[in-house]
Amino acid sequence: MAYDPNNIFARILRGEIPNTTVYEDEHVLAFRDINPLTPTHVLVIPKGPYVDYDQFAAEASDAEIAALVRAVGKIARAEGVAEAGYRVLTNCGADAHQEVPHFHVHLFGGERLGHMLPKQMKAK
Ligand code: AMP
Repeated sequence: MAYDPNNIFARILRGEIPNTTVYEDEHVLAFRDINPLTPTHVLVIPKGPYVDYDQFAAEASDAEIAALVRAVGKIARAEGVAEAGYRVLTNCGADAHQEVPHFHVHLFGGERLGHMLPKQMKAK
């Protein structure tokens, strides 16, 4: 799938739509999910134009990949969830119900998260 430069996260990166930033560096922006599913729900995105995990894993530079992985850990610690635990999740493509076509990692925490894929989370 070709990258759509008008997807909502691209517009956030260009400053066209407000966001609640929790972390930013050369390669990464992280902000609070507008519809949080847990007390801590942060979206961590690369600044580069990658549609999904698959494209990011194949085409991003080592520096971009390292920055994103390191950022998730830094944010988890800054949010105070690292000790109790947290979940990192990315939806890639149609079967995973990815809604925004700019690669993003969800960071969930702040409560007991239950099983990884409870039945009610599965798309019908
Ligand atoms: P996914 O289904 O993995 O593509 O998740 C997309 C996520 O983006 C959802 O959790 C939405 O609540 C979130 N989202 C959509 N628009 C915005 C926005 N403008 N600011 C913050 N989060 C958003």
